[in-house]
Amino acid sequence: MEDAVIIGAGPNGLAAAIALAQAGASAVILEARDEIGGGIRTAELTLPGFAHDVCSGCHPMGVLSPFFRTLPLAEHGLRWIYPPASVAHPLDDEPAALLRRSVHETASGLGEDGRTYEKFFAPFLRRPHDLLADLLGPLRIPRHPIRLARFGLPGLLPAAGLFRARFGGRPARALLAGCAAHSILPLEWPLTAAVGMLFALTGHMVDWPVAAGGSHAIGRALASYFRSLGGRIETGRHVRALADLPPARVVLFDTSPAQLADIGGPILPAGYVRRLRRYRYGPGAFKLDWALDGPIPWRDPRCLEASTVHLGGTLDEIAAGEAAVWRGEHPERPFVLVVQQSQFDDSRAPAGKHTGYAYCHVPAGSIVDRTEVIERQVERFAPGFRDRILARRAMRTTDLQSDNPNYVGGAISGGVADLWQFFTRPVTRLDPYSTPNPRVFICSASTPPGGGVHGMCGYFAARSALRRLERLPERLAPLCRSKYPPLAMVW
Ligand SMILES: Cc1cc2nc3c(=O)[nH]c(=O)nc-3n(C[C@H](O)[C@H](O)[C@H](O)COP(=O)(O)OP(=O)(O)OC[C@H]3O[C@@H](n4cnc5c(N)ncnc54)[C@H](O)[C@@H]3O)c2cc1C
Repeated sequence: MEDAVIIGAGPNGLAAAIALAQAGASAVILEARDEIGGGIRTAELTLPGFAHDVCSGCHPMGVLSPFFRTLPLAEHGLRWIYPPASVAHPLDDEPAALLRRSVHETASGLGEDGRTYEKFFAPFLRRPHDLLADLLGPLRIPRHPIRLARFGLPGLLPAAGLFRARFGGRPARALLAGCAAHSILPLEWPLTAAVGMLFALTGHMVDWPVAAGGSHAIGRALASYFRSLGGRIETGRHVRALADLPPARVVLFDTSPAQLADIGGPILPAGYVRRLRRYRYGPGAFKLDWALDGPIPWRDPRCLEASTVHLGGTLDEIAAGEAAVWRGEHPERPFVLVVQQSQFDDSRAPAGKHTGYAYCHVPAGSIVDRTEVIERQVERFAPGFRDRILARRAMRTTDLQSDNPNYVGGAISGGVADLWQFFTRPVTRLDPYSTPNPRVFICSASTPPGGGVHGMCGYFAARSALRRLERLPERLAPLCRSKYPPLAMVW
């Protein structure tokens, strides 16, 4: 019998499995697809020789993750490629704003707001990894409470209000609004400022990298390291019921709360299952991948220096677009997130050619084709772009969900991360990774700290499971032993 079985080989399932194996637990991952990775896969979606990231494309959280940073992933084949800038944010009648690693250089492109911008970020850049470690986890007593409070108090505010109040010019407001739009929330909602500040902060810690060869390299390195610790991964193993699981002492679900309810329902209290079913997933995404005849012809050519390009013009326009999506509408000028991997990694496309990657947010379950509006947004800032398209592939919310059942309604980051659900995902519990059944855990992006390729959900879920498995360091074991006697049952 295994100590642990993990359902799903996404970044969080792999991280959980590694943390368990590092502690000496035997672990097996069951993955539904024929390949591992979940949100970190790469495939020829358009033409032969064009390698597209199916889901995640750019990895500030991957490279800065407090857990991944401790793993020997380079020895297992992962190489990050760093661009000269993290984000470019083109504007209609003026130069693009660029998020660069140097706060000073970034600020110097923000006109009248330059000094305010530098002063605003300076405190967070003293020991930023400490701050990140407190931010990327469940609600708990922080290690650096003053640092966290300094960040968290303004962060609790709505992005639109905070950035309008702090900055007077269009470039600074727009740059930070684009970062805040990663929250997939209306920018008038509390906590969206924290998302904008966090993404900008990561851009000052590291130039947002892409993975050499494709995002699948991240999953392959995690899997290779896990196997080197004695772990096993079985692909083509779609778990639909408890009967599909091998005997194990604990099971960790790298799945949506809905799947935890469906599969684990028979061994979970009805009240807990009801709360899982009330989980909110929020808007979805419509994604486009292009095979291109050349680089994107940005009007401001400096946009080619950034791995990520935020399209949506001003803060007001981005805020209006994101709010419309939440009202169930499809805005004419949506916020569009572009990643240009092949600009920095020439293994992604044949010589002289390029890949393009973009998505916009859409109402949950939308089947509306957003190809035209996305391409219009790119064309607005890169005239002549359409002439470079050799082939395209679109993914609607329904395609995303059939590709991976975790993307419920096309939601790409594990569910709504508003003020309430950010801290209580998937349900309100002191230990959100645990369930009322001491042998069942959830480790997906639907737990804190939420979406993104950082593995922290998996890491914290594994710690929770290890407490039950009594494999934590000796000084902590007595605490666990008294509460949870060893389990040696089979399903
Ligand atoms: C279009 C898109 C763009 C994104 N862009 C970025 C980005 O640029 N940067 C970033 O950091 N993040 C990005 N993300 C988010 C990121 O990919 C996810 O937050 C992350 O992958 C979540 O990891 P996870 O391990 O929780 O789940 P997943 O990555 O979803 O993995 C879950 C795994 O479990 C498997 N599984 C599910 N159910 C079962 C079952 N019943 N039985 C067996 N196996 C099962 C799935 O097949 C999958 O392999 C993006 C996501 C999408 C969709």
